[in-house]
Amino acid sequence: MAGVVTDLAEVLRIGTAKAQENRDFRRYLSARHARETPFQILASGIEQQVDCTSCANCCRHSVVPVSAEEMDAIARYLETTPESVARLYTAPDPDTPSRRILRSSPEGCVFLDGNLCMIYDARPKACREFPHVAVGSHTLGGRPASLARWAALCPIVFNAIEEYKHLTGFHPHEKP
Ligand code: SF4
Ligand code: SF4
Repeated sequence: MAGVVTDLAEVLRIGTAKAQENRDFRRYLSARHARETPFQILASGIEQQVDCTSCANCCRHSVVPVSAEEMDAIARYLETTPESVARLYTAPDPDTPSRRILRSSPEGCVFLDGNLCMIYDARPKACREFPHVAVGSHTLGGRPASLARWAALCPIVFNAIEEYKHLTGFHPHEKP
């Protein structure tokens, strides 16, 4: 495997420049019903090489849904009530008002402190499974276009996609 790119400015620069190529790659995989397992294996390897505490981009750029059970878990962790957690740290999801999401600001999630999560052991499932490349049941080719967006923000996604292009023999100018 070539060297893993972990510099966030480089990931943003190259990932942004390759946005269309990455959308094409997603269609290429979808058209060929590419298997998920090889991608998950290589993504797991890349996860081991990336220090998330040097990044935290997902905590700055994600909308995090939080269930009632997860609010209970956060309340227990913070030794407060679920009602306080809901009121202080969550808000209705503008796209799905029946669902609640963690509050955030332009600096990121309400629970982000520097690059660290203040409720790490009680963080919601969406955070634990991010960037959803090594676990999950969705096929890579069928993933939403957000995968291309995250390729410019998340070093794990960026490197996993680049490596998978080599593995599948994808050529940037090949028609999906
Ligand atoms: S999962 Fe990706 S975006 Fe989140 S901290 Fe780790 S490398 Fe950064
Ligand atoms: S709860 Fe923690 S892991 Fe999840 S987005 Fe907020 S700071 Fe990041």
